[in-house]
Amino acid sequence: MNRPDQLHRFIFDHSDIRGEIVSLSASYRKVLSNGRYPPPVGELLGEMLSAAGLLSATMKFDGTLTLQARGEGSLKLLMADCTRHHSLRGIAKTASGETTQTEQGTFPELIGRGHLAITIDPAQGERYQGIVPLEAPTLSGCLEHYFSQSEQLPTRLWLFADGRDAGGLLLQALPTKLQSGEEREVYWQHLCTLADTITAEEMLSLESETILTRLFHQEKLRLFEPRDMDFACSCSESRTAEMLLTLGEEEVMGIVEEMGSVEIDCQFCHQHYRFDRQQVESLFSQQPDILH
Ligand SMILES: [Zn+2]
Repeated sequence: MNRPDQLHRFIFDHSDIRGEIVSLSASYRKVLSNGRYPPPVGELLGEMLSAAGLLSATMKFDGTLTLQARGEGSLKLLMADCTRHHSLRGIAKTASGETTQTEQGTFPELIGRGHLAITIDPAQGERYQGIVPLEAPTLSGCLEHYFSQSEQLPTRLWLFADGRDAGGLLLQALPTKLQSGEEREVYWQHLCTLADTITAEEMLSLESETILTRLFHQEKLRLFEPRDMDFACSCSESRTAEMLLTLGEEEVMGIVEEMGSVEIDCQFCHQHYRFDRQQVESLFSQQPDILH
């Protein structure tokens, strides 16, 4: 039986430490079905999706959180985003194209030198972006590095994926309120030691409640109602039209002259968008002020 695609938040009573656990199956498989990824790349994509799901739950407003790793290795781009409404999508790009089955190796071997960007696009207000170099041997390590640099909240992530199922666990120490700094530190180390015992097999096959019970059965853990996660793409005809406007009339009309129309496939969901000459002309005739 498939596990539900869900995210649970939880807190440890009388402490300043919180957590989240996510399990992804149907949404992860949908993302994988949109590309033909070599297994190690598909697994990293599952970790990235899990991380995007976990981190999106920390947003306090409507918007989208995007994780993007870019490198100089055979894996050029690894990306996932998740909205406040729990819609996930993701993509990976390899230097040799998506169809190759030969890429092997660990995260640093595949992606090489590069950086990880965390972007938050609020529905209203200014975009925020934090960037860290890819220096840790795992994706979770790179994200932990980001948190220690920019948020200064001790944060640990455990991420797993096997090409069918993906999942992740996050623990985060909050500013001290209920505990002294020393108490929080001791309890933090204790919880991380417990969480370190999780295995990929447990994370990818068990229900989240069962995993939490196994890891933290002696702790006072309060679990909140789960949120359903699913695959959804934010592309649309109007967003595609906006993209054409940013390319400029000359370039877009050049494509129309050559091809008869402009055709665009969304790289996340393969939705096909086609704009014929008349549509392109009316698009640009409505926007004279934006272009100049
Ligand atoms: Zn799309």
